[in-house]
Amino acid sequence: MSARQILIVEDERPIREMIAFSLKRAGYIVHEAEDCRTARLLLADHRPDLLIVDWMLPDLSGLELTRLLKRDRETRELPIILLTARAAEADKIAGLEGGADDYITKPFSPRELLARIQAVLRRSSAGASDEPIEVGGLQLDKASHRVSVGERTVVLGPTEYRMLEFFMTHPERVYSREQLLDRIWGGNVYVEERTIDVHIRRLRKALEEFGHDRLVQTVRGSGYRFSAREE
Ligand code: CA
Repeated sequence: MSARQILIVEDERPIREMIAFSLKRAGYIVHEAEDCRTARLLLADHRPDLLIVDWMLPDLSGLELTRLLKRDRETRELPIILLTARAAEADKIAGLEGGADDYITKPFSPRELLARIQAVLRRSSAGASDEPIEVGGLQLDKASHRVSVGERTVVLGPTEYRMLEFFMTHPERVYSREQLLDRIWGGNVYVEERTIDVHIRRLRKALEEFGHDRLVQTVRGSGYRFSAREE
């Protein structure tokens, strides 16, 4: 595999250079931007595998940049790790709801950052490949659009299939109804948010006879999460 490219968006030069140094040493190709404007210009020419975005930036906030990129069809699959000095739980939730794939609080060690990067890249390449995905015995084959448990096929409507594919490639994260609409239906379609609940119910019902309905979890006040762990 060719070297992975990472874009660092951070205005504080010592921190940016420290991150760039440890990433280069770990074998990554590094691009650097000191604000969101430069980051977006760089993104027009390069397609990094991952972005590290500081929350506090001079033009837009890192959270706003994350939202913009996750709303754009061209860049929505780009994994983003938000960097911040804020340790508050509310900020963490805002960051993840804004679409960030992970979140690191300053100060952090280069080793911690590298571990997070590897984890996020693993998750995103699992999503990008055509390999069948398996969670707790439930298997989804993207090439054939077939969902099965052992030898048995799970019969799903096309929307439930897309929903399950999205969930299985983005596990362990909470998505609001709005985010699910955006990611599964696409941003330009008008669908009421409660439509999501209807499809969630159908998906659970289809999974129920295989004992897998609990994988689709309701997170009160936030949305839904796909997880093999107990709620
Ligand atoms: Ca900063």
